[in-house]
This record gives sequence, C-alpha cells and structure tokens, in this order.
Amino acid sequence: MSKKAKPKPEVHEYQAEMQKLLEILVHSLYTEREIFLRELVSNASDALSKVQLTTLTEEKVLDKDTELQITISLDEEQRKIVIEDSGCGMTKEELVENLGTIANSGTLKYLEQLQTENKSAENLIGQFGVGFYSVFMVADRVELTTRSWQEDAKAWQWSSEGGGQYEIIPVDFKQRGTRVTVFLKEDAKEFCSEWRLESIIKKYSNYLPFPVKVKDKTINQVKAIWTQSKSEVKDDEYKEFYKQISHGQQDPFHHLHFNIDAPIQYYALLYFPESVGNEVLYARESKDIALYAQKVLIQTGNTDLLPSYLRFVNGVVDSEDLPLNVSRENVQKNVLIEKIKNSLTLRVLKELQTLAEQNVEKYGKFWQTYGTLLKEGVSSDFKNKDRLKDLLRFNSSISEDSSTDVTLKDYVSRMREGQKDIFYVTGGSREAILHNPNLEYFRRQGLEVLFLTDQIDDFMVVDLRDYDGKTLKNISQGDIEGINDSDMSGAESSLSKEEKSDILAFFKKQLKDRVSEVSDSKRLVDSPCSLVTPKDGMTAQMEKMMKMMDQKFQGEKRNLEVNMGHPIIQNLSEILQKNKKHPFLKETVEQLYENSLLVEGLLENPVQILSRYQMFMESASAYELEKLNRVE
Ligand code: ADP
Ligand code: MG
Repeated sequence: MSKKAKPKPEVHEYQAEMQKLLEILVHSLYTEREIFLRELVSNASDALSKVQLTTLTEEKVLDKDTELQITISLDEEQRKIVIEDSGCGMTKEELVENLGTIANSGTLKYLEQLQTENKSAENLIGQFGVGFYSVFMVADRVELTTRSWQEDAKAWQWSSEGGGQYEIIPVDFKQRGTRVTVFLKEDAKEFCSEWRLESIIKKYSNYLPFPVKVKDKTINQVKAIWTQSKSEVKDDEYKEFYKQISHGQQDPFHHLHFNIDAPIQYYALLYFPESVGNEVLYARESKDIALYAQKVLIQTGNTDLLPSYLRFVNGVVDSEDLPLNVSRENVQKNVLIEKIKNSLTLRVLKELQTLAEQNVEKYGKFWQTYGTLLKEGVSSDFKNKDRLKDLLRFNSSISEDSSTDVTLKDYVSRMREGQKDIFYVTGGSREAILHNPNLEYFRRQGLEVLFLTDQIDDFMVVDLRDYDGKTLKNISQGDIEGINDSDMSGAESSLSKEEKSDILAFFKKQLKDRVSEVSDSKRLVDSPCSLVTPKDGMTAQMEKMMKMMDQKFQGEKRNLEVNMGHPIIQNLSEILQKNKKHPFLKETVEQLYENSLLVEGLLENPVQILSRYQMFMESASAYELEKLNRVE
C-alpha cells in the first residue's frame, strides 16, 4: 500500500456537444451492442499501427522492442473486461483532445438531425470517429489507462460513466500503450464470457494485422490474406479462407485476387462458388461480400458492392480509404462505395472475359451455372452491356448438340454475304426448336440461327437488340428478310392464283379470329403451315410465361402461313374446288392449326387432337384398302 496521498482527480465536463452525442450514440446509432468490442479492438489495432510507424521514424520510443499485440482478459465476478494494447498510447493533452471533444464540429448537428428524422446514421461514413463511445452501450463505467510512446511521458487514467463528465488522474503505469477496463452493465453481463468474446473477435476482427489474445491464446488469423500479394498466398490458403467465409466444405470454382490504388484504394479477394442455389438465383441482390475498412470488418452481407446480377460472387473487399464507424445504412449511397462497385464490376467482367478466352471449357461450365445471371446483366447494366454481350453463349443451328455453344462474335464471323441480321428462334428446348417449321427456310439456305431456350431469353433479347451493328431478328416473326428476295419465293406450287386465294379464304373462314391473318408462305419447305408472330409481337415463349403468371392471360393473335407447294394443301385445294362443303376440309384445317400450336408449345390440351387423328387414320386406312382391292 502506498503511503502517498492519492492525487485528486481532475474533473472535466464534456463539451456540451459531446454529452448530446453520447446520448444519441448510445441509444440509437448501432443496433448490435457487441460491436463495442470491435471498436475497442480496432482502436487498439490503430494504436499499434501508429507506433509501428513511429518506431520506424523516431529514435526514442518507449518500449521499443515490446511485442505489438492486443490482450483481453475478463473477470466474471466483477463483471469487467480489460482490453490492453502496446500501441502508441496518449499524453494527457491527447486524452482530452481524443476522448473529451468531438473531432468534427458538424457531427452533432448532423446526428441530431438524423435522430429527429428517426433515421440511422446515414452517410456518416468519413465524417468523424465516434467508435470509442459505443462502449457506453454496455458499460456503466470505463477506465482507460494510457502511457504515450514518448519516453518522458507520464501515465494517466481517464474514467467516465458516460454521463456529463470524465476524470483524469495521474497513475503509475510502467509500460507503453493503453488499457481499457470496461465495467459491464448488469444487462450486458453476457459479454463477460470467454467464448462470447472469442466469437465476436473471430466474427469482426479475425484478420487484424496484430495478434488478439485471450488468456495467451491468439484468437485471430493475424494476417489478412487479401492484403498479401498473390504470390504469397498458397492455393490451399485461398481454399481454406473460402470455406471459412462460405461456411461450407466445397472448394470454390474460381477466385480472383487483386488490389487497386485509384480512384480509391482497395483490396479484393472474390470467389465464384462451384454451384448456385435457388436462394441466390431468385434473390434480388448480392449479399455475400464482406466489407472491411482498414482490415476491420464493417459489414457482412453487403448488397452495394456489386450489381444484383453478380450476386453469386462471394468474398472480401477491404479499403484503406473507408473509415470504420459505419453502420449498415451508412454504406449505401456512399460515393466511395459507388466507386468501388464500378471498379469491382469491371474487374469481375474482365476476369470472365479472360477465362472465356483462355479456358473455354471452364468458361463453358461457368456459363452453365451462371449464364442466366449474366443475361440479367444485359437487361440491367447498360454501362457494361457490350462487355456482357461478348460473354453470352448460345446454342445454334450449327451446334452438334445442346451442349456446344457459340458466341455472337463467332456468329457474325460466319455471316453470309448479303446477310444483314443475326437470326434467332426461341423455344423450350433444342429438340422443340428443331421441329419449328420456321427454321426450314434457314436450313435450306444454310443460314445459321441461334437457339434461345432459356426462359429469360425472351426478355434479354429485347435489351440485347444488336451486336456489332447487326440486329437480332426472331425468325418466327413476320417481317423476316432473307439474303435476297428470290430466295424467299416459297415452295413450287401447281395451284393457280384463284385456287390459292380460295384455299386461303377457306382457312380464314374456318379459323376466324383465332388467327389475325392467313397468308401464302415464302419460307416453308417441308411443313404445310406455320404460325408467325406479327412484327414486334410477343413470342410463343413469352406468351407461355405470361400464362403461367396469369391464368386469364390472352395471347396475341398470330398469322398462319400456308405452304402452297405442300401435297396436303394441294389436295385440300382440289377437294375445295370440287365440294366446298366436304367435312374433311374443315377437320384438316383445324388439325393443321392445332399442329402449329403444338409445335410452339401453345396447345393447351394436346389430348383433344386424338379423336381427330383416329378419324384421319380411319379415312387413310380405307384409302389404302381401296388401293389394294384395285390391284387385285
Ligand atoms: P476513431 O477511432 O475513429 O478515431 P474513436 O472514438 O474510436 O474514433 O477513438 C477516438 C480517438 O481516441 C482515436 O482517434 C485515438 O486517437 C484515441 N484512442 C482510442 N483508443 C485508443 C488506444 N487504444 N490507443 C491510443 N489511442 C486511442
Ligand atoms: Mg475507433
């Protein structure tokens, strides 16, 4: 026991502003109380960084060789937590300056405004540092003992109960650094648990550059692997880190590690997972990016660092330019974040481009998993649309099967002389498309047609619009232009002009307003009929989708094109000329129409055509029998 009389504490009133600030801060700024530890630990880490630099630049530094570390101890009985660092410490002047005043004069006004508007501290980022005071969310008293790195500096103890004042008193404290003793409120005793503290540190501070020790055990990883250079990180470390952040066992499909200095400094370590679940596919936004500022986690599940269509990307972004005291809302609408977002997006797209060029097989796999999402990008990311166009893959009429895809660039390089447009057709599958009569003309001409089989394609292609100055044209639409008009003259027909117009009129009379128009086809070769969407009309795929969403949805009327050279049509014409009322005429027209619907996948009740088929077979079998009897 010291015989000296205890020095009388110096009592300081907080700046009036400071008192208000404390009140606001404790009651409304942060929602998660556990972040007080993140703030204290990150202050300790900052102090260690400072003294690290000081040691490099100054000659005389107290405890020059002491280990740079943060130690945490606790005392359950007294409900206290002690966080100690061997950092730069503070002089008395610094104490008053740093823990008694508000650094930025605009801060309070700003916070008050937020409070009256009942908003969280939006755009707080970069404005001021108030992390330390978050300790009063959990503490009813805080003692901070500190000794500056300057060799002749004395040690001081700052203490406060978070009310209107704080005290400063000289103390006996030999070592350099700061010790913060937190006396927990009764309702915050949950934090006085080794396990709890460790898990909070792991959650928020795992990659701080200095060891954080609880009972001599280092809790954190110490090195931030994303801040290391690529050559320093082993492949296994990338994988391990991925497993940790994805809380899973799967290896990543691909990773991307880089750092940028301008227009804003940041490190990024991003991963593309091997597979993607529906929860990601159908989610609205990206949420797997952890945002660090100066190696301290400030936000998990960030939704603002990547556009929605890149929501499969997982990883860490760490910027030295972002301040720490940011709550979730503040990150949004921040200019710095916007800059990082633009830069990140570009890097991801460039990486995909490189992958597509250098590893076709791997990109193919990527496309199988994530293609749908990139298509979303075509419709939403106008800035990067051209880049995205080159990342698209399509099945095509020249593909051998449904798994070999082509690029738009390939397509254009194969375009025939005189070909103005890029042709495509939509359908449920490659199989279904191959049966589409509208494809016949293009096959005969050897013109390549892209097969769009994804549900999203109908929407995407509208936004895609063109590539390399060539328009994308749906071959199921009415206004298709071939290479030249003479190619588009339709199949040879023996029918006269009058006979043609009679049969077309009959079709129209029978189908009435189920079709908008019946016309002589210029494109059909092997099929008798085909339904064609009017220019700018809704494709069959899109109609199906609308019907799925709305049972009562009425599709648009289509044009029926009739192949005048087809034997069925020529026979019908002859029957028509002989007997306008022959029942076979009506049934055949109905059947041809329904066949066309069937091909497009638009026939609502395919079973209904069975009875008519039986009738046709009856008639055909009678005809065959008659032929046989004639021969006998
Ligand atoms: P910020 O860290 O954003 O500056 P804080 O409210 O967390 O804001 O801390 C205020 C200031 O107090 C810090 O800038 C620093 O100068 C000082 N400080 C806090 N904790 C420590 C510490 N452990 N060692 C040295 N200085 C500290
Ligand atoms: Mg701080």
